[in-house]
Amino acid sequence: MKIAVVGGGPSGLTCAYRLQCAGHEVVVYESDAHVGGRMASVLADGFTIDTGVSLLLATYKRTQALAKELGIEDEWFAFHAAGSGGVLRDGKLTSFSPNGAMGVLGYRGLSWFSRVRLLLYFLRARKWVGKFDFFDLSVGSDALEAVDADTYVRSKLGPEIADWLFDPFVRTFHFHGAKRISMKYFDALAALLLEQGRFSSRGFRHNMGTLSHALASHLKVFRQTPVKAVYRQQGRVCVELLDRKEFFDSVVLATPATISRKLLQGHSPQQRELLDKVEYSSTLMCAFRVPKCALPDFEGIWVPFAESSIICCCANETRKGAVEGSECVLILGTHEEASANLFTRSDKEVFETVAAEWSRLFPQYESQMKGIHVQRWPNALPIYAPGLINQVTKFWQNGQGEGGIWLCGDYLNHPWVEGSIHCGEKVAARIGRAVLAGEVSPLKPKKQVLPARRSVTGS
Ligand SMILES: Cc1cc2nc3c(=O)[nH]c(=O)nc-3n(C[C@H](O)[C@H](O)[C@H](O)COP(=O)(O)OP(=O)(O)OC[C@H]3O[C@@H](n4cnc5c(N)ncnc54)[C@H](O)[C@@H]3O)c2cc1C
Repeated sequence: MKIAVVGGGPSGLTCAYRLQCAGHEVVVYESDAHVGGRMASVLADGFTIDTGVSLLLATYKRTQALAKELGIEDEWFAFHAAGSGGVLRDGKLTSFSPNGAMGVLGYRGLSWFSRVRLLLYFLRARKWVGKFDFFDLSVGSDALEAVDADTYVRSKLGPEIADWLFDPFVRTFHFHGAKRISMKYFDALAALLLEQGRFSSRGFRHNMGTLSHALASHLKVFRQTPVKAVYRQQGRVCVELLDRKEFFDSVVLATPATISRKLLQGHSPQQRELLDKVEYSSTLMCAFRVPKCALPDFEGIWVPFAESSIICCCANETRKGAVEGSECVLILGTHEEASANLFTRSDKEVFETVAAEWSRLFPQYESQMKGIHVQRWPNALPIYAPGLINQVTKFWQNGQGEGGIWLCGDYLNHPWVEGSIHCGEKVAARIGRAVLAGEVSPLKPKKQVLPARRSVTGS
């Protein structure tokens, strides 16, 4: 079978790799000069900076297994302890750990009344740790899929927990508030935290791009080759590039849903309905060079919206060894509410705005921050709004792979990197099953390629 994968992020590369291992002839088209998508790294001012994915977790079993298979298991490492994670409230940082009753009751960021309510929630939540799978959201009860997490938490646990703990928790990892997601998604995320004790961070030794590069080294990847359109034509699937058309038995669209919606022409009703529904949060990741002595002893900080309407999270990169002499890197992420305004500004203006805000929150940083990189993410994380998980589950049952066109990515009930890898493997397995069932047959006629008018970069 001749198969094209559009998009060289974790889901597309994994899917392509699995398809190739199964004996198919696979090509990957990637619009950027590098692979990795939102799991990419850049070199800036002597530091390697993870501009998207910041951490992987000890529980990422598929990611670890894939790394082992690719011979890069030695690159997988636990971050150096850089103190605890902290939540900011009234200018004070308080370490939060859901570990055990004492961990919850000892958390000083909430009143006693809220701590007791929180403990009761976690005691109940512990029972469903094994019943949810954050990396396969179709698993688990649907009882709270229709209600948004903020409304539910506010009514059951009170506004203090909603505003000062759960909303910042969601924003730190998704850049949008808890109001935007279903309670089922929130429960699955909380189960992940409880399963971990606290997030036990892992990564790839040199940078987050290591995994994507290892996958790409086994594949035929056309970089800087944006796909313009994908559609069915005369029993085949056409991939339209800037300078030519290529025809395939099947095509995997492993781009964010908002991009797939534009690329896919002549959608089926199920494809259209799903792609129309998915929305993304947006964020800017701003990297600063700071003196090591200015950093308090923390690994990351959750910043509630009430504390700052600009910055939602902070990662201390010394935990990855990003230290040069007496300096190190601090990465600050912005709330989606602030992103729209900041997206149109120059890097210099972004650095000034974000540094001024951070120095307001932590005066010890005043005049100590040198901006070294800004990454704008218009499609940062898919928003699992109430109802989306069920809609995606139905799509997997009816609609996925229709017309030889497969959708793939973290918006298909498989969030984050571990989920994306899961999704890539699942799509590859489904294509294999479709071939065995005779639903897809290899192309008979020789490919019809229009003459190339510009060179493409293959590797
Ligand atoms: C700021 C940020 C922080 C994150 N932090 C974490 C974290 O700490 N841990 C974690 O597990 N996850 C994290 N994530 C989520 C994770 O990055 C994504 O879940 C994952 O990368 C999704 O993979 P994907 O392959 O579905 O999509 P992507 O990674 O977006 O890959 C899609 C690819 O398609 C390419 N493409 C787009 N248009 C075209 C076109 N027309 N033609 C050809 N190619 C095209 C893109 O260039 C890209 O390479 C973070 C994301 C962001 C933005």
